[in-house]
Amino acid sequence: MAKIISVCIAKGGVGKTTTSVNLAASLALAEKSTLLIDIDPYGSSAVAMGFTPDRIKAGISEIFNFAKAIDYTIHKTDLPYLDFVPANINSIQNDERFAKMTENRVILKNALKDVKSRYDFIIIDCPPTLRGITLNALTASDSVLIPVKCGHFSLDAVDKLFDYISWVREVSNPYLDIEGILLTMYEKNSKVTEISERELRLKYAGYMLETTIPVTNLLNEATFYGKPLCLYKINSEGSLAYINLSYELITKNQESIIKNQE
Ligand code: ADP
Ligand code: MG
Repeated sequence: MAKIISVCIAKGGVGKTTTSVNLAASLALAEKSTLLIDIDPYGSSAVAMGFTPDRIKAGISEIFNFAKAIDYTIHKTDLPYLDFVPANINSIQNDERFAKMTENRVILKNALKDVKSRYDFIIIDCPPTLRGITLNALTASDSVLIPVKCGHFSLDAVDKLFDYISWVREVSNPYLDIEGILLTMYEKNSKVTEISERELRLKYAGYMLETTIPVTNLLNEATFYGKPLCLYKINSEGSLAYINLSYELITKNQESIIKNQE
């Protein structure tokens, strides 16, 4: 059974999409069968994966309005071990209809039952909001990966997310775990990074992942070419950081992966 991880925090611009895309691609490079799902109505994962609208046959909209089985929304990618479900909510009118549909919080969970056994990991790129579709993702997930942008004071957003996760455990997913807090856009020798890191480590010591993601323009540049960084410049600091992250998560989840392969 796949380990389902939501990449989530109610803050924009902190590296959720970059982390989802590059982590999913790095897991696939390690030959872990991976499904990346974009549930952010703005659909930035599709851009980062090089999917223009004409290449998208169906996506998260069809899953939520029960128009198509999830299999029909799964797209092959340049990496043999990586599949992708894009978000294809492309008008405000659709967005509103979509918000209504996501009130049923088990839709994604039920849809994933049909494909869970085929993957080692399912990575869900969440929008910067809680509620609605994010609640669907957290209800369907085994754990939450929390990207925190250094220097962008995010402790408050982390506190709120922990509260929200406690509530989700009570109302719809008692097994929801925390995969860890990931420091993104990490600047060595920066006072601001140092202060925010210290605060986080004080409060959330047990949750901090070992890997940190450095600030590097190549991660931004690769999206313009519609590629995860490992397919653009594999030997770059950013690409290696996400490969390290995939290694950390594979090691952490080794037991469940072995069980899956038996
Ligand atoms: P979110 O999904 O949380 O809104 P994104 O992943 O889209 O955040 O990142 C926001 C912006 O920051 C994007 O332009 C992205 O290319 C850039 N970015 C993300 N991670 C890094 C990094 N480690 N170094 C430099 N730029 C980054
Ligand atoms: Mg995003």
